Amino acid sequence: MKAIKEIYPLLNQPKNIVVTMHQKPDADAMGSALGLYHFLMQLGHRVQVISPTNWADWLKWMKGAETVLDYELNPAKSDSILAESDWLFCLDFNALFRAKHMEKPIRSFEGIKILIDHHQHPDSESFDFGISDVSKSSTAEMIYDFIKESDHRDVINIAIAECLYAGVMADTGSFRFSSARPRVHRMVADLMDTGFDHTRIHEELFDNFLENRLRFIGHTLQYRMEVYYEYNTALIAVPWKDLVKYQIKTGDTEGLVNFPLSIQGIKLAALIIDRDEEIKCSFRSKGNFDVNEFARTYFSGGGHYNAAGGRSSETLDQTVQHFIKAMKENASQLQ
Ligand code: 5GP
Ligand code: MN
Repeated sequence: MKAIKEIYPLLNQPKNIVVTMHQKPDADAMGSALGLYHFLMQLGHRVQVISPTNWADWLKWMKGAETVLDYELNPAKSDSILAESDWLFCLDFNALFRAKHMEKPIRSFEGIKILIDHHQHPDSESFDFGISDVSKSSTAEMIYDFIKESDHRDVINIAIAECLYAGVMADTGSFRFSSARPRVHRMVADLMDTGFDHTRIHEELFDNFLENRLRFIGHTLQYRMEVYYEYNTALIAVPWKDLVKYQIKTGDTEGLVNFPLSIQGIKLAALIIDRDEEIKCSFRSKGNFDVNEFARTYFSGGGHYNAAGGRSSETLDQTVQHFIKAMKENASQLQ
């Protein structure tokens, strides 16, 4: 993979470009994809954002979200756009399987492939150009760098600024994680100079759910959470029937894994959800417990030091037992 800066000189010739991101895109994946979309459109490129799967309703306020194609719903159209494209940007994921059914078309894409990502262990060999930097707060921050370093700061408008703000805000836990360094706040100040309403963005992302989601969270914290004080760990295990009963949609479980971390002394929080098609795991930690390593070792996953995810093909009960065993094996690191 060549350095990202080597494509800057090529940005000035119009191209057909596809931008994609990890499946079930979150605010950083969608915000960085749409921020890049608005930027490339202004430079005169033809751009299509294709998401591997559907996305949460609380991302639909982003300008341009209505133009995004869902690969699972439109595979033929997406494949034909990919076949006609010169460049393919892959944002906010390190390994191609995180693009779900788009993994194959990404592998066989014949144009130039570009990676912009901040997760550990990037699959650099699959890309022609790119940047992978785990010190970055978010992919949105990296899109901002991309625009600035390619000498196009002047084209940042409200649409770009709002999308990037949402991405960096979400990935820094509203600017609380250690990744929210001074340079992140400087970037935010620069984005806010475009004049967008940041309060509205917080409301769009956090105050925009239906009653059922809050009832589901109440039920889950009451009946599905176990706290293992000896291991400074809390686990939430959600059966499929709860998702059905509360009519839980994509995005409704976002943030749930963070609740147990608000208990004094808890270092590791885990959320295991039976999504029927697979068991999805989320891990969050405080301080010096490396959940990226934990997710890689025990749950075929990965992510960041304090936030990672993984999966299991066993039943929910078996996955919970597997987790408890893993927690016990890590007893000393959890002290
Ligand atoms: P979440 O728990 O919100 O799904 O994911 C937390 C972090 O871990 C995100 O940065 C996400 O990209 C990453 N992540 C989630 N699931 C997986 C996975 O199965 N494999 C890898 N490599 N990373 C994951
Ligand atoms: Mn991200």
